[in-house]
Amino acid sequence: MTDLPLYWQNHIGGHWVDGGAGRIDVIDPATGKKIAEQALADAGDVDRAVMAARAVHLSGALSDMRPLERGRMVQAMGRYLQEHKHTIAHTLVLEQGKPLWEAEIEVEGAALYFEYYGNQASTVEGRSIPLGSGYYDFTDYEPLGVSAQIIPWNYPVEMTARSLAAALATGNACVIKSPELTPLTNAWFAKAAEAVGFPAGTVNVLCGYGHEAGAALAAHPMVNQIVFTGSVPTGIAIAQAAAQNVVPCVLELGGKSAAIVHDDADLEAFETDIRWGIYFNAGQVCSAMSRVIVHESRAEELIARAETVASGLSVGPGVDRPEFGANMGAMVSDAQHDRAVAMVSRAVDQGAQLVTGGHALNRPGAFLQPTVLAGLSPDMEIAREEVFGPVLSVLTFKDDAEAVEIANSTDYGLVGGVFTRDLDRATRAARQIRAGQVFVNEWYAGGVETPFGGVGKSGYGREKGREALWNYVQTKNIAIRLR
Ligand code: NAD
Repeated sequence: MTDLPLYWQNHIGGHWVDGGAGRIDVIDPATGKKIAEQALADAGDVDRAVMAARAVHLSGALSDMRPLERGRMVQAMGRYLQEHKHTIAHTLVLEQGKPLWEAEIEVEGAALYFEYYGNQASTVEGRSIPLGSGYYDFTDYEPLGVSAQIIPWNYPVEMTARSLAAALATGNACVIKSPELTPLTNAWFAKAAEAVGFPAGTVNVLCGYGHEAGAALAAHPMVNQIVFTGSVPTGIAIAQAAAQNVVPCVLELGGKSAAIVHDDADLEAFETDIRWGIYFNAGQVCSAMSRVIVHESRAEELIARAETVASGLSVGPGVDRPEFGANMGAMVSDAQHDRAVAMVSRAVDQGAQLVTGGHALNRPGAFLQPTVLAGLSPDMEIAREEVFGPVLSVLTFKDDAEAVEIANSTDYGLVGGVFTRDLDRATRAARQIRAGQVFVNEWYAGGVETPFGGVGKSGYGREKGREALWNYVQTKNIAIRLR
């Protein structure tokens, strides 16, 4: 195990600095013990970071560079993360609670964003628009300037990589507000940017309280764009702050995503979807498969299989789970754990059948048993609200129309899934499900190349894929009168 530094600073304008708001303890959720202290930024620190990024932007150091060169630097950041994978992954396990093998997957996923967007840098091309022989007209895509990125605690490495790689590839300078619960691993993005030669101030990384540093960043008048991943109430506050300064924002919020499982589905294969869909990262995934809507004729079999998957997972500290396998780590904090337990207990009070799990483990740490609930109706809280934990809600349907109606019956619309051997049925459902992305016969099918984002309360804008590049640029039209 890596020796963890006891104190972690923020990175502003190329310097490692203390925070104006003091320090926060970082807790290992698997033990409840403090592992480090993190500097906490105040509004003054946020201002210095934004002005450092703005200075880089105005200098033209990023925007004047040939995109191919900039792309190479972005790719090199990905390689830097890979080179430090084991150290980053160990730190991630300690601050977030996930098994070590999951942490390694997260670091590899982060590196992939830098590889992918580094490759895309030179493909952001304008076009020429015919206006007749008297004119020559063309469009340019310019970076927006300062990109503010506010990060959640569930995938601190991958979420930052997702927005940072695309923002840098398109020539923006960035200020990252890392999450209070899991701030440590974000330091590597500042180190990576420095290591590959980006000018000081290109990547500023600071931790601070959401209501203090986060709010100051979202409201800063010199920020040109905001990317936010997190909860709905915070997303609304950020959209309001962005509107005050008339700057665009991308909101990636929560979900209550559903898999529709038809009577002809391969339920043996679906066990893998249950395992990844709701128990990966202890269910703390915005696009988790938190609901399964199964045809009533297959409900009994599916519930039995879900119980087998859930009760077969070995739950415990992530550091003791280095290898890929049937295991799960801690939730991120006692507060998140207690919230999930309370939601399960309310569901049972309202008549839900607790198939398995639902309780804390009899040991220290924020461990929740992998849980399956059945016998639910779509109007129950557990079937509508995000748990953000390892809790699968199983509902049933009689016909295709009812399945889609239940899938679409929450305020969210992040992703959805349909499991059937019938292609027509799958295609119809894929069109009818109200979500930004639909998986057919494999939950989480897709990758960095495929656009991701929500409808409804799940947010707006798209991250990942080529779509995301347009979040970070603005179109300029140049019309030349030929005389
Ligand atoms: P959160 O909204 O509490 O915090 C997210 C970030 O916003 C943190 O960095 C926090 O400090 C900051 N923040 C809090 N208040 C703020 C304010 N007033 N102004 C500016 N910043 C503020 O969410 P969380 O608890 O960290 O994350 C869990 C939620 O995020 C879940 O609802 C989950 O579904 C969602 N999420 C969505 C995605 C996605 O890609 N769609 C990914 C991960 C998490």
